[in-house]
Amino acid sequence: MAKEELECSFCGRKKPETNLLIAGLDAHICDRCIEQAHGIVLEESKQNDSSDLSAELKLRKPQQIKVFLDEYIIGQDMTKKVMSVAVYNHYKRLLQSSSKDDIDIQKSNIIMVGQTGTGKTLMAKTIARMLNVPLAIVDATVLTEAGYVGEDVESILTRLLQAADYNLEKAERGIVFIDEIDKIARKSDNPSITRDVSGEGVQQALLKLLEGTIVNVPPKGGRKHPDQKFIEVNTENILFIAGGAFDGIERNITKRLNMQAVGYSASKSDEIIDQDNLLQYIIPKDLKDFGLIPEIIGRLPVLTYMDPLDSKTLRAILTEPKNAIIKQYKKLFAMDDIDFTITDGALDFIVNKAIEYKLGARGLRSLCEEILTDAMFELPSSDEKKLNVTKNYAEDKLTKNTLKKLKAVS
Ligand code: ADP
Repeated sequence: MAKEELECSFCGRKKPETNLLIAGLDAHICDRCIEQAHGIVLEESKQNDSSDLSAELKLRKPQQIKVFLDEYIIGQDMTKKVMSVAVYNHYKRLLQSSSKDDIDIQKSNIIMVGQTGTGKTLMAKTIARMLNVPLAIVDATVLTEAGYVGEDVESILTRLLQAADYNLEKAERGIVFIDEIDKIARKSDNPSITRDVSGEGVQQALLKLLEGTIVNVPPKGGRKHPDQKFIEVNTENILFIAGGAFDGIERNITKRLNMQAVGYSASKSDEIIDQDNLLQYIIPKDLKDFGLIPEIIGRLPVLTYMDPLDSKTLRAILTEPKNAIIKQYKKLFAMDDIDFTITDGALDFIVNKAIEYKLGARGLRSLCEEILTDAMFELPSSDEKKLNVTKNYAEDKLTKNTLKKLKAVS
């Protein structure tokens, strides 16, 4: 067949009438037909999405969500439970558009209070992984009110768009984790003195986003300027999870608990307060006393706390989660056909050092790295096919200096 006579097997257009004609086994397709077909595929997958969602809802009841979280996160049962319910309700909310009544299920945005390194980010990551939705992790400390040096709150949505590969529909169902929300607390209890650039103004700017609104987002980030094209992002179905350490909030909690004890009858004051984990008594009022404005607290209606990590938990974090640190090293060594084992004594030693030097869960990784770097450097080019890390081996590799260094960076 002469070249000119080639035509699209779908619409019959001759090659010169098309921009592009792609050859198949014994058929051709033109650019227009590809576009049209692509549209049909998108439309189809949209419909599937919504039925996927109902299927998902049937499949993952709160208890199943918790089982999933259990695979990756040790302990933190209260938060897992609260999260599972919040996420389940979030799903239901996404499905409500088809309902006819006037009852509007509100968003279940979440706020997690807990010391650094207790798994707040991990919780958000795991939820996003389970739902297979994009996740943007942002630090509240970089946010400022529009017009000040720093990032506008809209930049949060730029990140989400990037995480979703600029698929708007995906982004609009994504999760945003706002870390260090406590750092934008109002610095003073008296709101009228001066304008508080870093704190209250940002909280105000976040309000609309949390509640659900349409925001003009600069797709590549940066400041808004007139000739930049915006993408309109609707935040109505985006789940916001905020986290923060709220250092010192225990004081507010103790004060409140003591006052309650005075005000109540003896039976109440007799209740033993667990001084080692005061966060478990947290209520929204404590967040307000810490400096979050009531409107923000209202838009983060699900409040939960993280337990501090004790040695038993740290030990489990090393070995139990699906991608536990030790499992990762095992895999790394196995790629060089090296059988890596570590004794209980060595594991306990690592945990003790993490506690002694207050390195938290994040420190476990750095400790392992220090202990194993020599082996990871030398063994791949040697004939040694076994590595058994004992307490003595670990002790040998971890000098006081390296521990000090780890403490300095943590
Ligand atoms: P946070 O956001 O609270 O500061 P992260 O979620 O970043 O803490 O946790 C820090 C590190 O410790 C991560 O590598 C995480 O995998 C690990 N980690 C912390 N808590 C847990 C936990 N409960 N279960 C499993 N791993 C944890």
